[in-house]
Amino acid sequence: MGYEYDDQNIFAKILRGEIPNETRLETEHTLAFNDIDPKAPVHVLIIPKGPYVCYDHFASLATEAEIVDFTRSVADVCRMTGVAPGSGGEGYRAIANAGDHGVQEVPHYHLHIMGGRGMGPMISRQG
Ligand code: AMP
Repeated sequence: MGYEYDDQNIFAKILRGEIPNETRLETEHTLAFNDIDPKAPVHVLIIPKGPYVCYDHFASLATEAEIVDFTRSVADVCRMTGVAPGSGGEGYRAIANAGDHGVQEVPHYHLHIMGGRGMGPMISRQG
């Protein structure tokens, strides 16, 4: 059990500078960039620079410095993209997919920040 990090995943390649990205914010421990296939006018992915597979992996093992840096970066991205309600924005949805049931495609923890339009119902009731 536990998590094994695959350093060939696409976000690891972005972090190593092997493939390009549209950076929105970079800090010591965090990178935020535009999603390559945006599902909303604002669609930014926020990732820790450390090798964490998904949210609970990050939440379990990241240092306090990494967690604080990541969390403050989320606030900065929400403000800078204009979606933060506290800064005059109309809101956003934050999503972290994990594993098979969460339909996670890229096995490097990332938080989706999506907004710029109404995001609709949270999830459909099915199966
Ligand atoms: P998830 O299903 O939560 O793992 O979502 C992965 C997200 O990564 C999708 O929204 C993709 O559009 C996005 N994505 C995949 N490759 C890239 C890339 N090279 N640059 C930016 N976003 C990407």
